[in-house]
Amino acid sequence: MMDISLCPQCSATLSVTDLICTSCETQLPFCIITGYHLIIDDWTQCPSCHFPALYSKLKEYLLTETHCPMCDQEISPHTIFLNAGLNEWTKQQQRFKKMKSKRKPLIEENLVSLNEPDKN
Ligand SMILES: [Zn+2]
Ligand SMILES: [Zn+2]
Repeated sequence: MMDISLCPQCSATLSVTDLICTSCETQLPFCIITGYHLIIDDWTQCPSCHFPALYSKLKEYLLTETHCPMCDQEISPHTIFLNAGLNEWTKQQQRFKKMKSKRKPLIEENLVSLNEPDKN
């Protein structure tokens, strides 16, 4: 059976190993512990390198390990917070969306000028 979890951007059902959402095509941040994409209610990041991680998996990892697998800095379990980095990611996604919607009118303008009949 395939493990599934939701896209943090559009809540589509994805395989945990999907790193690009098949529905909204967002490139998804992935956990430095498991390699799975992050989900909205299990989100954190390394306090040193700010790489994302699944909160529950990082907590679990820190039961036996003491250093970040990414930056090799020591992580103290009480410096890990649920939702750390989530706001920043959400804001970044909103900026991407705006950039995409700004591009559209430009394309339409070009089409209009291409279709304009010759005035001569
Ligand atoms: Zn999505
Ligand atoms: Zn780190």
